[in-house]
Amino acid sequence: MERAEHLYQRLVQICGERNVLRDEPMKNHTLVRIGGKADFLVWPETYEQVIEVLRLKEEYGLPFTLLGNGSNVIIRDGGLRGIVMQLKHLNRIWREGNNVIAQSGADIKAVSRFALEQHLTGLEFACGIPGSVGGAIMMNAGAYGGEVKDVLDHVKVATLAGELKTLKKEELELGYRTSLISRTHDIVLEVVFALQPGDYKQIKEKMDDLTFQRESKQPLEYPSVGSVFKRPPGYFAGKLIQDSGLQGKGFGGAEVSTKHAGFIINKNNATAADYIATIEMVRKTVKEKFGVDLELEVKIIGEE
Ligand SMILES: Cc1cc2nc3c(=O)[nH]c(=O)nc-3n(C[C@H](O)[C@H](O)[C@H](O)COP(=O)(O)OP(=O)(O)OC[C@H]3O[C@@H](n4cnc5c(N)ncnc54)[C@H](O)[C@@H]3O)c2cc1C
Repeated sequence: MERAEHLYQRLVQICGERNVLRDEPMKNHTLVRIGGKADFLVWPETYEQVIEVLRLKEEYGLPFTLLGNGSNVIIRDGGLRGIVMQLKHLNRIWREGNNVIAQSGADIKAVSRFALEQHLTGLEFACGIPGSVGGAIMMNAGAYGGEVKDVLDHVKVATLAGELKTLKKEELELGYRTSLISRTHDIVLEVVFALQPGDYKQIKEKMDDLTFQRESKQPLEYPSVGSVFKRPPGYFAGKLIQDSGLQGKGFGGAEVSTKHAGFIINKNNATAADYIATIEMVRKTVKEKFGVDLELEVKIIGEE
């Protein structure tokens, strides 16, 4: 049997046929609707399956990519080699005391809603962030003055070698849209958020207000990655881009949003090449006009 077929059979043995896809277009699995094919896309249903897949990729010496909801990645048009893993089936959310515990494949929005239903406060800021819990930890996601760091207690991870560990918040080096995980590439499996009892009506009002602000300012009617760039110290990326006259400009199907200049939208079947060319055009123009280097928040991965 050829090696690829053999590998496919092994992945099916571990995760089941319905959870292993071959040559899968990743634009079907990113929010920006961009991305070439993955050799193998797998969706484990248990932590044991996650570990077994990690062991298999070691055995085969294969490249490995972990994705959450694909809300903060651009996958180049040549796609991803080896194994791509998403934990969307590991999405349980429950309460223990004032803690909310979530598996990493749960939507952070769903965890925020669950906290509301439980009359627990602290996760209101996350009500509109379209990522998974795992992605939110890795990115220390935040909005409107709150961030994951404010409410995190600890996480359970699997290392790339397949070892299970618990990491306390203090060990995670959570900074502005970054964490220790971006260096170690550990796989977040389970997260404990420490919340406080709160008033349902007040929590709901805050979430409604944040949702209104988001919907009125962001181009949510188009696929995007959210803010493409990090906030440069002393500036706002969106304002610099707006003042550079770049709104409405772009390459191919990609365009700097006319509603919020910090967003690049997939307006019309953009390729990754269109999107990346638009990013580079923005960076170059802002550097020329204002001398500011825009650092990427979005992750660009895969082959050209
Ligand atoms: C419309 C829109 C609005 C947004 N608004 C915000 C906002 O207000 N605030 C904000 O912070 N972000 C925002 N984002 C960006 C994005 O939603 C966050 O960065 C989110 O945390 C990414 O989560 P994800 O699951 O989609 O991760 P992905 O995009 O799939 O992956 C991002 C990174 O996280 C890693 N990762 C994913 N899952 C795990 C895991 N289980 N363990 C370890 N690493 C993992 C991936 O390997 C990758 O490196 C927005 C995006 C969009 C499209």
